[in-house]
Amino acid sequence: MSLWWSQTDHPEFASGRLDQMWDVVIVGGGFSGLWCAHHLITSDPNLKIAVLEKSTVGSGASGRNGGWASSLYPIDDAKMLKHFSQDIVSSLHTQLQESIDAIGAFAESEKIECDFHKGGSLLIARNHGQFTRLRESIEEGYVILSKEETQAKINMKGAVGSAFTPHCAALNPAALVVGLALSLERRGVSIFENTFATFSPDNTVIVGNRSITSKSVVRAIEAYHANTREQLPIYSLMVATEPLPDRIFDEIGIHNRETFAECAHLVTYAQRTADNRLAIGGRGAPYIWGSRRKDSNETLVGIHEQIRIMARRWFPVLRDFEFTHAWGGAVAVTRDWAAYVRFDGTYGELGGYAGDGVTLSYLAAAAMADLVLQKEIPRTRLPFIQWKNPMWEREPLRWLGVNSAIKLSEAADTEERITGRPSVLMKFLAPITGQ
Ligand SMILES: Cc1cc2nc3c(=O)[nH]c(=O)nc-3n(C[C@H](O)[C@H](O)[C@H](O)COP(=O)(O)OP(=O)(O)OC[C@H]3O[C@@H](n4cnc5c(N)ncnc54)[C@H](O)[C@@H]3O)c2cc1C
Repeated sequence: MSLWWSQTDHPEFASGRLDQMWDVVIVGGGFSGLWCAHHLITSDPNLKIAVLEKSTVGSGASGRNGGWASSLYPIDDAKMLKHFSQDIVSSLHTQLQESIDAIGAFAESEKIECDFHKGGSLLIARNHGQFTRLRESIEEGYVILSKEETQAKINMKGAVGSAFTPHCAALNPAALVVGLALSLERRGVSIFENTFATFSPDNTVIVGNRSITSKSVVRAIEAYHANTREQLPIYSLMVATEPLPDRIFDEIGIHNRETFAECAHLVTYAQRTADNRLAIGGRGAPYIWGSRRKDSNETLVGIHEQIRIMARRWFPVLRDFEFTHAWGGAVAVTRDWAAYVRFDGTYGELGGYAGDGVTLSYLAAAAMADLVLQKEIPRTRLPFIQWKNPMWEREPLRWLGVNSAIKLSEAADTEERITGRPSVLMKFLAPITGQ
């Protein structure tokens, strides 16, 4: 169980009758589905909206992520500028930044105790190869910090510098997802848990053997849309420490609850929780043949141990403390790493956040609501709108390519540590992974 769910109660949702005419049926009770319902009901309180969730709300990635409400977008500006104007790319960044504040303001106004704190974020270089790469790829919204400036914020062993952005908040995602669902229920949205939905070829929603009647349908199941070439479920695993005494934070810093990561090729991320734990995550779990999901990939003992070892390398004082939680989940990665929000007039789908979905789902869902309600505003011109991602390769190429990329990322991190220069290996790998 994720740290977040061990600290968050799950209420019952009184759903009512499913067999009636709906304006919008949303399949998936994670952030994408729930924010979509939020934006729709905020625009038109008379809409009849049903959210169908196969398990419990937030049981997917939304209730078990790293709790970074960041302004990150999975692909870099240079790639987006090949297809979109500078204005559109800048507008995406601005709207992501504004979305963080909107999430914070929503939590405050609805009195959701999700420990939202906007302390910014540091991407920390622990060798000169990482630092060179960081300086060469710095994007809008970040500033470079020297070794001393970095250590004043976070005293990570071996840090040689970092990139800092004020645009990130740390939060407890399970508490936010439950608070959001309760708020929706109060505003008249019907939430049906333990309700598994499928889609007929004409995209009617089917539950059991019944067709659900609705003017519009939105598929918001992100990495659960598995077994296809449209996107891959890639597993991200996390661990959390016991609450740490104040003297530890006197030594390691993180006084403003900045989220942080090492600038490695194999993704890492961490936050100081409101109850003074460190919750730390990382990738490295293997991709499963055929883009399949497998629950056992969320609890790989070896990967959890690798993350604990990494955490103790960052902060050797952690050797004296226990790690009390270990969990994981899948993120959806498209072939070009771009997110998508598509709507054809009656059927819509959104996702492909590649691990950056806490804030992005808020914005993507707002854009989906605009499309459903046929609004023509700047949000409906953002890069992910009606974006058609290319397909992943067929097996066995996909299995070979993705698992080699995971292994080579680890090798590239070792190369940078040894040489002190940006990895040459990674320059060859980039065109293959598409990142
Ligand atoms: C370990 C981990 C760490 C992460 N850390 C971060 C982070 O720090 N910051 C960040 O921005 N992002 C992070 N992410 C990514 C982020 O959590 C996701 O992008 C985001 O939660 C996706 O929300 P969603 O609603 O689209 O998907 P989900 O939360 O997965 O929701 C989809 C829901 O659909 C339901 N469902 C699936 N199929 C059906 C069906 N047939 N019928 C009915 N319901 C169905 C599922 O049960 C699930 O509840 C992380 C992800 C993981 C796994």
